[in-house]
Amino acid sequence: MRYALVTGGSRGIGRAICIKLAAMGYPVVINYLGNQEAAEATKSAIEQMGGTAQLLRFDISNPQAIEEAIEMWENSHPNDYIAVLVNNAGIRRDNLMVFMQNSEWHNVIDTTLNGFFYTTRRVLKGMMTKRFGRIINITSLSGLKGMPGQCNYSAAKAALIGATKALAQEVAPRKVTVNAVAPGFIESDMTKELPKEELAKMVPMKRFGKPEEVASLVGFLAGEESSYITGEVISINGGLL
Ligand code: NAP
Repeated sequence: MRYALVTGGSRGIGRAICIKLAAMGYPVVINYLGNQEAAEATKSAIEQMGGTAQLLRFDISNPQAIEEAIEMWENSHPNDYIAVLVNNAGIRRDNLMVFMQNSEWHNVIDTTLNGFFYTTRRVLKGMMTKRFGRIINITSLSGLKGMPGQCNYSAAKAALIGATKALAQEVAPRKVTVNAVAPGFIESDMTKELPKEELAKMVPMKRFGKPEEVASLVGFLAGEESSYITGEVISINGGLL
């Protein structure tokens, strides 16, 4: 059976993606870091609509934790594999470069970029052997154009785009697609402290996007109908360039 694993599925965009993939019929593995209550809420939302979901807690920046969690999952699912991986978990530690601490730099790179590497490498073989896979990396407008105060975040998200394009070419013969989705401003805990009204004025659509709008695009990329799209970065930002 084909499962979908969504990193950072407990809240925000990740939660909406879990719900979308479950509605498409995928049993969903909801990864999270520490917010058990939010992860349980995602799981119940899926179960209430008749879907299947399970929680799998691990820190995506810790390769050993990933290995242990996925191995445990595989041992209890001998006939299943992770066919869809959404690398969604991410953090912001904004600061101007001149003030940026080593920890602010490393924490963002460790989560977004190293987390992508560790998690993807671990589940890739299954997809290649089964000759079907969908890897969707949540990058950002910040990784496309760079944002002041976000050298760490822009660097990590831009690197994720490079990795998306390289990996897409490596695994295309095995019918595994690798794409990136680049949201602009989306309503979530990550953006709740930003001056929303002021920022929304910069967006041609004059509003922040909703997690469900991002999830809808991810759902398309996770399905059979997107089989000839790979190595792409698709923006979803209300026209903000
Ligand atoms: P969010 O509401 O802050 O949620 C972050 C999620 O990531 C949570 O589920 C959190 O788990 C999880 N997480 C964080 N560090 C983790 C780790 N080390 N291991 C496992 N899980 C971890 O963020 P969001 O706004 O939904 O953003 C989701 C993705 O979209 C991120 O990659 C972000 O960079 C990207 N993005 C967001 C926006 C936006 O405007 N919101 C725009 C562009 C791109 P816990 O609940 O357990 O803490």
